[in-house]
This record gives sequence, C-alpha cells and structure tokens, in this order.
Amino acid sequence: MDHKIIDGKKHALIIKDEVRGRVHALKDLGWKPRLVSIDIGEIGAVRLFIKNQQKACAEVGIEFENRHFPLDVTQREVMAAIHALNADPRVTGIILQRPVPRPLALEELENAIHPSKDVEGMSSSNIGNIIYGDSSLGPCTSLASVELLKTTGLSLRGLEVVVVGHSEIVGKPVALLLVEELATVTICHHGTRNLTYHTRQADALIVAVGKPNLITEDMVKPGAAVIDIGINQIDVTLPDGTPGKKTVGDVDFEGVKKAAGWITPVPGGVGPVTVAMLLRNTVLSTERQKKRYEEAMRA
Ligand code: NAP
Repeated sequence: MDHKIIDGKKHALIIKDEVRGRVHALKDLGWKPRLVSIDIGEIGAVRLFIKNQQKACAEVGIEFENRHFPLDVTQREVMAAIHALNADPRVTGIILQRPVPRPLALEELENAIHPSKDVEGMSSSNIGNIIYGDSSLGPCTSLASVELLKTTGLSLRGLEVVVVGHSEIVGKPVALLLVEELATVTICHHGTRNLTYHTRQADALIVAVGKPNLITEDMVKPGAAVIDIGINQIDVTLPDGTPGKKTVGDVDFEGVKKAAGWITPVPGGVGPVTVAMLLRNTVLSTERQKKRYEEAMRA
C-alpha cells in the first residue's frame, strides 16, 4: 500500500489482537464480556453495522446479542429494556444503534444506558468525562480518529489541527480529545466564513461532515495528515455500464492524496478502527465491572 495511506484495517487488527488477549484473561477468571445491541425499525445501514459488530465481536471472543424493536415501539418500552440490561450483571456493554427513528427521543435513551455499560461512549457522563481528562470510555469514532492520527508519528503537542464538522457524535468529542493531547484545535462548521482559509493552516485535518468532495486538493496544506471520517454513498456507472453505488468519504481522495503527507481511505480507514474501539471499550467496561464487584465483595 502507498506509504501515504493510513491502513485502518491493519490498525484494527492490532487493536483486535490486544482485545482478544484481554478477553481471554477475563474468561479465565469467569468473566464473559457481553455486548447487547439495540436497534429500532428497519434501516439497511443499521443492519450492516450490526452484522459488522457481531462479526468483530466473534473474532475476539466477545458475546454479542441483538435486541431488535419494531418501528412502533414506545419510548417507555425501550427505556424499560435499557433499565433491564443495566441491571443484568451478565451484560457488560450496551450499544444503541443510530439513527433512532422519530418520535423516539435519542438523548433520553442514550442517557438511560448506565455510563459503566455505555461502550459507545455517547452518554453525557462519558462525553463529560473527556473535559476532565478521562477519555477511557470515549466515543469510538473520535477515539479511532486520534489513534490513526497518532500512527503518523506526528507529535500532537502544539499541532495545528482543524476539525471540520461539530456534531455531538464526532466533531465536538474529537476536538476535546485533541485538546487533551495539547493540540491547537480549530473547529469549523456551517458558521465558518472561509473554510479553505482554516483547512490550509492545518497540520492535521479531520473531516466529519457527510458531504462527498467537500475537501479538495487546494484546501490542504502540503504534507498535512488528513483523517476522513465521512461515509457517503454516491451514484456511479459500473464497468458494465449499469448504474451502481460507491462509498466515499468527505475528501476528494485522489486529489488530496497528492498534497497530503498521510490520508485515510474510505472505506478501510476510520471505519474498521471505530469497530475495534467498540471492542476495546467493551473489554474495558467488563474489566471495570469485575474490579467494582471484587471491591464490593471485600468491603
Ligand atoms: P452530522 O450530525 O450531520 O454533522 C455534520 C456536521 O458537519 C455538522 O456539525 C454540520 O454543521 C457540519 N457541516 C455541514 N456542512 C458543512 C460545511 N459545508 N462546512 C463545514 N461544516 C459543515 O453528521 P455526523 O454524525 O457527525 O457524521 C459526519 C459524517 O461522518 C457522516 O458522513 C457519517 O456517516 C460519518 N460517520 C462515520 C463514522 C465512522 O465510523 N467512520 C462514524 C460516525 C459518523 P452544522 O450543524 O452547523 O450544519
């Protein structure tokens, strides 16, 4: 692979090896990490996320269970299911698949997951912990982006990082994680007057918007590291002349690759590492639950 391309699949394998060892150590002591996924309605992309997560869990020995709810489920019913999972000592991690269909209230459901079992790192408590320097159960995609940036060998201290996108799931938490690493962080969004002015200053550019080709070669400082979080489906003509779909990021990969020092591909960049981070968070939450149980037994 081109040395400029950050291989997310390779890094995901390294993380999975580490997680597998920790899972085995827990199982030897009678503790089984178990991740329960909750999804609501029939959304094709969500089915694919669940399939990938289930496969990844099997690869490292984490038990995986899927709880599917129909579109007409009520907020109260999903809340009750989450409370039951919180109380079940056999469940060590819970993930609520996005999007959650309206009129269900996503934030209330997310915050109903006990922070110690919130392995996606999306509860207010776990996001808030980042402010206080604890990112151990942080949001998986943000953790994955920082992990991949670190593989470049760039020192994050004092690095000029520009984050494009300020969503609560990616843009804001990744900026907070980078501030903790002492990077100098600028966050761009719809209100930013001159996006190119900012992106051109960046030693590292992290993009999480959901717009194909938003970042072009002329917007990138030569030698910068570019982490593309976006996942978009675009229409293409297949080699046989029929219409088809292709998955691309937010960055014009071929153009930006010429200017960048490092770049993540889509697919095969941030995505696989995000799943690996979910596994790492799940094993960590199990280790912590075991520790708390042992402390309670000694008390
Ligand atoms: P989101 O909630 O829609 O947020 C998009 C962000 O981009 C918003 O902060 C929005 O700002 C900003 N934005 C929109 N247009 C912009 C522009 N022209 N210039 C600068 N900022 C602009 O999306 P998300 O959940 O953060 O996801 C972003 C992308 O990452 C999507 O493609 C998603 O599929 C992908 N994703 C990938 C992974 C992974 O594992 N690889 C995980 C999660 C998400 P305003 O709010 O001001 O409009």
